[in-house]
Amino acid sequence: MAPVPTIALNNGVEIPQLGFGVYQIPPEETAAAVRTALEVGYRHIDTAEMYGNEKEVGQAVRESGIDRSEVFLTSKLDNGFHRRDDALRAFDQTLADLGVDQLDLFLVHWPLPTIDVDYVETWKAMEEIYASGRCRAIGVSNFQAHHLRRLFGETQVRPAVNQIEAHPYLANDELRAFDADHEIVTEAWSPIAQGKVLDDPAITAIAEGLGRTPAQVVLRWHVQRGDVVFPKSVTRSRVEENFALFDFELDQGQMATITGLDRGERTGPDPDTFDYVPR
Ligand code: NAD
Repeated sequence: MAPVPTIALNNGVEIPQLGFGVYQIPPEETAAAVRTALEVGYRHIDTAEMYGNEKEVGQAVRESGIDRSEVFLTSKLDNGFHRRDDALRAFDQTLADLGVDQLDLFLVHWPLPTIDVDYVETWKAMEEIYASGRCRAIGVSNFQAHHLRRLFGETQVRPAVNQIEAHPYLANDELRAFDADHEIVTEAWSPIAQGKVLDDPAITAIAEGLGRTPAQVVLRWHVQRGDVVFPKSVTRSRVEENFALFDFELDQGQMATITGLDRGERTGPDPDTFDYVPR
């Protein structure tokens, strides 16, 4: 199996370009799913406090026997903990639940621009976490360019990544270009739009021509665009399929065909209005 390339973040930390996402995997199924992913060769796991499965992710990594330093772990701050003190406490809890001394990447999950806590306060707490040395990189998720501009103006540390919804029906190219212009790596969440793009005739035609599956074609498109991806599946054959992306290539025409499917269609919430706070 061809190795997974890494991408250097703006502080030099290397992130594997392909990982395994665990959103919507129930805690009781998470350890087995992560174990499978690690067996297949994934060395990057994307979880979040709000997924409720950090303990099981940590358990699977420990039980795998793979050295902790070889697995890149990302988690994200719960929407209910945007105030400074809450954010610091929540990060401590994430380390405890994962059972690690240091996290690789911690993200502000959503900007929540309409709630009564300013995300600039939240980002300053993230800077404190980073300064403590207990997190190798910090970043954001679902931030629009205007949210990022406020961080640039009012805080010190540039986010290392911006994890945003992106797939063939939502190319999100303007925001990706903004990220790139500011040395922020884009991570594409719901990279196959939770399966919705896999029946698209343009995608199935490319897949048939290459003798690959539609999921592989779409994930390869992300990889060639330079984004980080972490598809989710609990089915071993799909976990394997989604990992086999580095022994084929899409040509320029195929890339352009997939990018041309963009119709600005979200599968998830709009970051400018999303205000969900658990509890
Ligand atoms: P995804 O695009 O990875 O799609 C997952 C679904 O597609 C699975 O449930 C499965 O049914 C299907 N699937 C997976 N592989 C397949 C294959 N090879 N063939 C056919 N069907 C297949 O969607 P996702 O889980 O929403 O996104 C991936 C990860 O992104 C998440 O697990 C999470 O880590 C992250 N994420 C982050 C945010 C955020 O706000 N930051 C939001 C959503 C997801």
